[in-house]
Amino acid sequence: MTLNNTTTIAAIATPPGMGAIAVIRLSGSKAIEITDKLFRPVKKKKSLLEQAPYTIHYGSIMDGNREVDQVLVSLFKAPHSYTGEDVVEISCHGSVVIQQQLLELFVRNGAQLAQPGEFTLRAFMNGKIDLSQAEAIADLIASTNETARRVALNQMRGGISNKLAELRNELLKFTALVELELDFSEEDVEFADRTELTNLISTIIAEIDKLSATFSQGNAIKSGIPVTIAGKPNVGKSTLLNRLLNEEKAIVSEIAGTTRDTIEDTIHLGGINFRFIDTAGIRHTTDTIESIGIERAYNKIEKARIVLYLTDALCTANEVIEELNEFTKRITSSQKLIVLVNKEDKSTQNHVDELTSVLNQKGYNALAISAKAGHNIDALQQMLIDLGKIDIPENVDVIVTNVRHYNALIQARESLTQVIDGLKANISGDLLAVDIYQALDYLGEITGEISNDEVLGYIFSKFCIGK
Ligand code: GDP
Repeated sequence: MTLNNTTTIAAIATPPGMGAIAVIRLSGSKAIEITDKLFRPVKKKKSLLEQAPYTIHYGSIMDGNREVDQVLVSLFKAPHSYTGEDVVEISCHGSVVIQQQLLELFVRNGAQLAQPGEFTLRAFMNGKIDLSQAEAIADLIASTNETARRVALNQMRGGISNKLAELRNELLKFTALVELELDFSEEDVEFADRTELTNLISTIIAEIDKLSATFSQGNAIKSGIPVTIAGKPNVGKSTLLNRLLNEEKAIVSEIAGTTRDTIEDTIHLGGINFRFIDTAGIRHTTDTIESIGIERAYNKIEKARIVLYLTDALCTANEVIEELNEFTKRITSSQKLIVLVNKEDKSTQNHVDELTSVLNQKGYNALAISAKAGHNIDALQQMLIDLGKIDIPENVDVIVTNVRHYNALIQARESLTQVIDGLKANISGDLLAVDIYQALDYLGEITGEISNDEVLGYIFSKFCIGK
């Protein structure tokens, strides 16, 4: 994605469809001029070009002699605007026809239709925000739960950027000293104190580790807590998945304008998103543990934070315990397990009660349900909410939610480890500098100091049009 700074772009900034009001946004050097050509103020005083910035004007947008709508026009002047350019926001009545006609009119008068994310791309190119802040804006818009909102807002204010800027600056100071040594290479001098450099790099690695460690939480906040449903064939896994997703569907479809399609296989409970992983395997009943191979089934279990293990209420306590003894060997202590005694409707109440109580005594988090009849699904949902709560400790101020940032941190760490190894081996300054530069590049990728068109194109294409 390349930026053509000379154009003035326009887009509808509010969601598609009818609303009470809609906002059309223009950005670029001709934003005010184009609007002025079409705007007839109610009280004819000055043209928009003569008006002070950060003011709002009431009037009509005219297509020749035809009044299209009565609007409010807000003016922002470069560089103090979202994009850093002249920006005009036109609040019109939210009819779809009005929105379309106004946008067409602006395009006919010299504006170009904005690409997805182009306003934010301009903000980035004009140095109003860095790349991680731009990404945070997209996350903020897409946030569907309170924690995701809070974390995105912190990042938008520069959370991770500030942290990285500190680390990078320290490292840059040393690079300058190492560079200086290269200038005096014949004289065998050392400006960069090797012990200090080792200490600094160890500190940076520790900081990187602290940041990377937040990623599993961060990713869960942003993309949902990964949950998997496991158990023998025919125990009711797909029935349960459909039950959970359908209950969600019923709730979601009550909220106007939302559809299930966009949040496929994710449910939203008590302010937390749960993402069922690899559900295709669950949906197709032939794709059971036997047929896909034990290893593949366990691979998917590995990715889950919460594992729902289904057993059959017709089994004896011993059978279930034996099954669980085998299964639990394959999960880690950080994974949370819920044992579900399914098909309770097919068994006697006594047997089900006994089975669940034996399991609870053994320390399992057990619950009897009927996926088919929908019994105790609300209790299961409550268990998910209790286990899925993510508490961000007070002392953690920055959470890594973005996989791109996470990968860059891992790569920076690798380069820094090589610097440490190099220092131990007493290698020359020019070789050290190569790895330090590499680490600086990786850290710079996060904030966009180092970026390429492909990465930018990818990031900004994820935005909605008008942002
Ligand atoms: P999977 O192979 O584990 O995904 O199992 P399925 O969800 O395909 O279910 C296997 C069979 O068990 C189907 O015929 C379901 O209707 C049935 N089933 C699932 N849950 C229950 C339940 O709670 N009670 C009863 N009676 N049947 C169930």
